[in-house]
Amino acid sequence: MSDTFIIQKSLLCWYRKERRDLPWRRSQDPYAIWVSEIMLQQTQVKTVLPYFDRWMKAFPTVEDLASAPESKVLKLWEGLGYYSRAKNLKKAAGLVRDQYAGRLPSTRKEILALPGIGPYTAGAILSIAFGMRAPVLDGNVKRVLSRLLRLNENGKTSKSEKILWAEAERLLPEEDVGDFNQALMELGAQVCLPQKPQCMICPLKKICQAFLQADVENFPPPKPQPVIQKIEVSAAVLFQNGKVYIQQRVENGLMAGLWEFPGGKIEEGESPEECIVREIREELGPEMEIEEKMTTIRHSYTQFRVTLHVFKGRLLSDNITPTACQSWKWVLPKKLVDYPFPSANVKIIKLLQ
Ligand code: SF4
Repeated sequence: MSDTFIIQKSLLCWYRKERRDLPWRRSQDPYAIWVSEIMLQQTQVKTVLPYFDRWMKAFPTVEDLASAPESKVLKLWEGLGYYSRAKNLKKAAGLVRDQYAGRLPSTRKEILALPGIGPYTAGAILSIAFGMRAPVLDGNVKRVLSRLLRLNENGKTSKSEKILWAEAERLLPEEDVGDFNQALMELGAQVCLPQKPQCMICPLKKICQAFLQADVENFPPPKPQPVIQKIEVSAAVLFQNGKVYIQQRVENGLMAGLWEFPGGKIEEGESPEECIVREIREELGPEMEIEEKMTTIRHSYTQFRVTLHVFKGRLLSDNITPTACQSWKWVLPKKLVDYPFPSANVKIIKLLQ
């Protein structure tokens, strides 16, 4: 028996016994599989579960998603981060409805042409939903392959990624490709963990090169650590006649289309109070009177950490000309929950409820 055959057989056998019962694994619907794969990008399974459930209830078909208002789509995504994923899903759903009568196409070329679908998601959909012989390569699979084959590759350069893609493809069985791909990902998520891999219970331990050479800890080679930026920001909760001012972020850039409280980055030598008064003058026009500091919120995003100083206040004139947003509103505090906000702003809303 070849090593490749042993890997395929051992993994499939293990997966059928040990796999987690996840809602998208109970479905053969390519749309449900597509939604789950997009949600799972950079997000853990336990976080995705309630979002997936709510999403499929709100938009059970491609057509439902395509015709939904974007604000509803973003609201259902609120807290999952990387909002471009939700916007691309909706955009792609419109294309699938208009060009493919609501059925996700099943060729690599067509599927890769849809917004938000890259080689990994295409491989996952093609293999899991359509049973096609297409490889997948996510962070879990990269780690498993590097250890299993003792490859000095972490997939961080295009050359290294190419090598891992080729190995992922070489290992694919002729049949049960979807299960095999999911087994590789599941093994990385449940057994071949980044720290403390559970080699003793691993179905591949008899054939895993790093384990057999007792140097699992050296694979995959370490990646350069990303520099986490620290950002200090001031934001204002402005009241007028019992309503609160909110504005919608512009269509391009970070967290595009979400709603927010006005404010911005603190400049060098500026206090949080000076910053919010300046930001409100620049963004809305009038001067702001600070009534109190409501709170300080610390929130971590993938690439940066934000410290958010939140001030309650009022404008000294009703005459506003918002310049840093695509639209703006005065809303009752209890209505704030109807709008999609970035996670740090959601903490302010909870305080206001
Ligand atoms: S034996 Fe250990 S290192 Fe090798 S694949 Fe299994 S868990 Fe990963």
